[in-house]
Amino acid sequence: MSLYIDVIVDISVSRLDRIFQYRVPEKLEPEIIVGRQVQVPFGKGNRQVQGFIVGVGHEASYDEKKMKDVLAVDDDAPAAQGQLIALAEWIRLHYGSTMVQALKTVLPVRRHVREVRHVEYVLADKAAAEELLQKSRQNKRDKARVRLLEALLREGRLPKETVTEILQISPATLKAVLKSSAMREESSQIYRNPVRQRLGGWKETILNDEQRRAVEEIWQQGMTCRMNWRQEKAVHLLHGITGSGKTEVYMALMERVLDEGRQVIVLIPEISLTLQTVSRFYERFGSCIAIMNSRLSEGERYDQYMRAMRGDASIMIGPRSALFTPFDRLGMIIIDEEHEAAYKSETTPRYHARETAIARAEMAGAMVVLGSATPSVVSYTSALEGQYSLHRLTHRAKEGSLLPEVQVVDLREEFRMKNRGILSRPLREAMEVCLNRGEQMMLFINRRGYAGFVSCRSCGYVMTCGHCDVSLTAHHYGILKCHYCGYETRMPERCPSCGSPYIAGFGVGTQKVEAFVKTEFPQARVLRMDRDTTSGKDDMSKILQTFADGGADILIGTQMIVKGHDFSNVTLVGVLAADLSMFSGDYLSSERTFQLLTQAAGRAGRGSRPGKVIIQTYQPEHYCITTAAAQDYEGFYQQEIQFRRMMRYPPAAQMQMLLAEGADDGRTEAAVRKLKEMAEAADFKNVEMIGPSKANVSRAKDMYRYVLYMKHEDEKELIRIRDFMEGYLAWSDQFSDIYFTFDYNPIVSV
Ligand code: ADP
Ligand code: ZN
Ligand code: ZN
Repeated sequence: MSLYIDVIVDISVSRLDRIFQYRVPEKLEPEIIVGRQVQVPFGKGNRQVQGFIVGVGHEASYDEKKMKDVLAVDDDAPAAQGQLIALAEWIRLHYGSTMVQALKTVLPVRRHVREVRHVEYVLADKAAAEELLQKSRQNKRDKARVRLLEALLREGRLPKETVTEILQISPATLKAVLKSSAMREESSQIYRNPVRQRLGGWKETILNDEQRRAVEEIWQQGMTCRMNWRQEKAVHLLHGITGSGKTEVYMALMERVLDEGRQVIVLIPEISLTLQTVSRFYERFGSCIAIMNSRLSEGERYDQYMRAMRGDASIMIGPRSALFTPFDRLGMIIIDEEHEAAYKSETTPRYHARETAIARAEMAGAMVVLGSATPSVVSYTSALEGQYSLHRLTHRAKEGSLLPEVQVVDLREEFRMKNRGILSRPLREAMEVCLNRGEQMMLFINRRGYAGFVSCRSCGYVMTCGHCDVSLTAHHYGILKCHYCGYETRMPERCPSCGSPYIAGFGVGTQKVEAFVKTEFPQARVLRMDRDTTSGKDDMSKILQTFADGGADILIGTQMIVKGHDFSNVTLVGVLAADLSMFSGDYLSSERTFQLLTQAAGRAGRGSRPGKVIIQTYQPEHYCITTAAAQDYEGFYQQEIQFRRMMRYPPAAQMQMLLAEGADDGRTEAAVRKLKEMAEAADFKNVEMIGPSKANVSRAKDMYRYVLYMKHEDEKELIRIRDFMEGYLAWSDQFSDIYFTFDYNPIVSV
């Protein structure tokens, strides 16, 4: 049987829709591996060009007689771009997409303008710069200018990317400093290799015993994987409580990887990529750091990509997509806050950065370090079962910094005491104490579950689905619905448990909280941070900076205020309604609530004064509240894993969702039913199939939406059933008017 390969001859994404097929001569067959470079004849004159193998198969896609033969195959292991192409193939297989969609995920779009003009800022006059620095230090508003001048005096010249992305200097500040004689702009064709140089004020942190042990163990085990890669030695979960010094552990490991001449990718959720975070890395490693974020234009992304490929940077810090940095000598991938939902892509291919990072690390012979105070139940299970190796940090690292005291307030009790306001009595009192002492506080309201579970305000009873053990969601016209099985019922007039008429959808927004707090505490200075107040590019960092500088007493916000910020004067954190994320109608709601509460509590008492956390809830006895209040991850995990096992949710079983969207309600449902019946008739009886049922959003953009959930212990079986369904859809044009999407281990309900 002949072997054929798919080849791309130009990786610029705009031309990826042309993939060419070639025949493989028998003697070259053993060398065919996706990602390797090949020499092929191309075009009318059969000019010899270089390409990459993107696929392998036994079927010719057009007339075999016209097909050309591959000339030669590189027998080296695939270099960066080849590895990324192999990774695209892995993504296609695991998450379901076309090869072109997968390639577009891992390779950047080439800019139309070919010429890259590289801009640098150069120290022009040392004395003038020092004088300007002295003057700028006098003025609190000139902080950005101080940052720029300090870096310039240290390094002599700064790449433009460092100035805008890492130091976050605005065009206005740049212009002002350029006007002086201290600095000038130069543009050149070449990139210089930026240096690893520590910032002037940088002081080495002496690692404590726990940190040192984690670094040594990870390094020793990881080193054995250079040649013989084994997941249990190469993948490490660092479970460290908030403030235990995980970032210091990452940096110590990064130092060692760089010493070996290898490169590092650090993934951080976009929301935590603040100046505060980035400058910690910059102070230690200088401008060999490159930053990726979603604000970059296509051209800028392409520039960053090329910088990394040429070796002009050896550390890439960024969100999910930074995983595809084309490093040739990748030594380590670090994923901070590995439990974050942002690590899963919302568009096809719906890949998860954690799983994909492990696949890439295996190709590169690299290590993976996953860090979190609240590891995902999936990762923690892998660690307990020995698929990853587990390391713990159990103490706060800063001298004298202790975990805060947590108090749970029962809102049902407040209701009984006729307090129908947003603030319970204990929280009010604590706020007064905090304000009187001149300390700061954060009030956290979780709006994620806003779309509404239904509960009784007097006994806390929550309306749930009798078949699925998830809460029902309120829809229009008093209909309550289950996302998982489609069960529907009417909103009851009275609470089925206690008969009280106070049963309703629950929800309160940040604006309402702000107005309420301002009338209750007219003397306090209040800042609000949510989607509305942070629509501009720098709004978020401005609000955080103002708060850090003591420009406000109270910061009110959604989950974006709880992520990784370190304010040493915050001594009180109030969680206004912990329940809001508890019944969002999917199996991950307890895990999310526990994570949010733990992270929120971790904001208090980061300095030397003790912190206090008050959690207001209608469900004080729910295990995700009690364990979060006790800062007891292990206790939470033990309860949660029992629930997952009982219900066969991940990691107890793997899950795959099929979403069908069509203009005709009946036809769309029938299509899903047909696929299910076909699969059952073929030999997929062992796959548990739930549905078809209406999706959570049952109609969007005039399309009706149906879901089918498939569960099985073995991922391969889910890939097989997906291939079967896709094969059927490709062969029959019966449902060509309906869109189908597969999602492997989905984390949001659709
Ligand atoms: P995490 O990432 O686990 O939340 P960080 O690395 O941000 O923790 O550390 C929390 C705080 O403790 C930071 O202010 C950091 O500078 C400090 N810190 C970390 N390690 C040490 C150490 N070994 N000695 C003193 N302070 C430390
Ligand atoms: Zn149900
Ligand atoms: Zn009730």
